[in-house]
Amino acid sequence: MKRLITLSLLAISLSAIAQSQPRILCGNEFLPDIMEQRIPGYKAAVRHSFDQAKQHSPQRQAGYTYTIPIVFHVVYGSPAENLDDSIIMSQLQVLNDDYSRLNADTSNTISYFDSVAADTHIRFVLQGIQRVSTVNSFSFSFFGLPDSLIKFTAAGGDDAVDPDHYLNIWIVNIQASFFGQLLGYSYPPDSMANWPLGSAATQKPYDGVVLDYRTVGANNPNPLNFGGMNLIERGRTGTHEVGHYLGLRHIWGDGATLGANDCHQSDGIDDTPFANTQSNFDCDTTRNSCTGVETYYGADAPDMVQNYMDYSAETCMNLFTKGQAELMQGTLDHSRPLLATKTATAIKQISPSALTIYPNPATGIVFIPYSENTNPYTSIQVSNMLGENISLSQSAASGAVRLNMSSLPMGIYTIDITKGTQHIVKRVVVSR
Ligand SMILES: [Zn+2]
Repeated sequence: MKRLITLSLLAISLSAIAQSQPRILCGNEFLPDIMEQRIPGYKAAVRHSFDQAKQHSPQRQAGYTYTIPIVFHVVYGSPAENLDDSIIMSQLQVLNDDYSRLNADTSNTISYFDSVAADTHIRFVLQGIQRVSTVNSFSFSFFGLPDSLIKFTAAGGDDAVDPDHYLNIWIVNIQASFFGQLLGYSYPPDSMANWPLGSAATQKPYDGVVLDYRTVGANNPNPLNFGGMNLIERGRTGTHEVGHYLGLRHIWGDGATLGANDCHQSDGIDDTPFANTQSNFDCDTTRNSCTGVETYYGADAPDMVQNYMDYSAETCMNLFTKGQAELMQGTLDHSRPLLATKTATAIKQISPSALTIYPNPATGIVFIPYSENTNPYTSIQVSNMLGENISLSQSAASGAVRLNMSSLPMGIYTIDITKGTQHIVKRVVVSR
């Protein structure tokens, strides 16, 4: 978030960093501490702005699904950095799974937070993949983030594609530096009440997300070793950074990045409990760093270490909350109004477990059962991993809709099923 950090401002912060173990950063954690040094009382002012935002920000429009087109820019130096399409498609799948709560590890969500875990109703489709070979190297230094080298074709990077209408994601090799290993970074939109002034991209072509190439996709063959740790990467740096891009703060509120202990700084969202600092790439679901009754829960809730916006292990993360979903939807309604296509969704989202489609995996014919006398489904829409709609022949068999998927290539398909005001999203694997 901070692009030009002077040496003097960092002097105090750096001693704290040097004492701690190797740090892996997402790139937007330094700002509050640096700003507090510069403007005493800054953090309190941010807290106040959170409260104001909650009281005055316009409500999002409920009942819509938001679809965001993504342009990936692979800016590579070595063949390994020039990621295969299959890895980028896996990243797209991770984003869609995590934002729709169709991720396989939802069952790991601790029961305390089951009721607040949410489908964000935000979806992603592939607009394009652009590849540029470069001789540049990229790192986070005293001089800031390497945007000028990554995001301009004339400087050896790749120009953004219309940042108002597309989410641009650059994939590069980010070198480790004195600050640690930066996994990725992104910018929130302008004038979000829950972000300090100056957090947004300073110029439009910078807007978007940058990911280290080793963090991309759930099938990435490139290991990420840092400070003796071999990190398991499953594409959730992307989930996290897109969360910032859509306006989310870190779950601990960024109040205590450098080892202090702050149970007052909120992320501005009611159903994410207070935490005094970040997780440390682990998964201690019993941690309760801030005691006291949380208003939303009416109890002393534990830290929500499984949230995508903490610094937990990727194998630990598995949820966004309803409050986070509403904030991101509000961002798309008001702060990034040209980005997503909005489609009215059925009013009631039904859990995928309420309907069994068979056989799954399938080779050809798939049945979508019903108990009524006649076919009750308003619409059944199939799409592929690219988010493209596929027209398939459907016919009513006895007690089930018969869907012929035999012409489709092997892969994972999404079936959006509407039944009156109810909506279910199912996944079907075609395998032969
Ligand atoms: Zn972050």
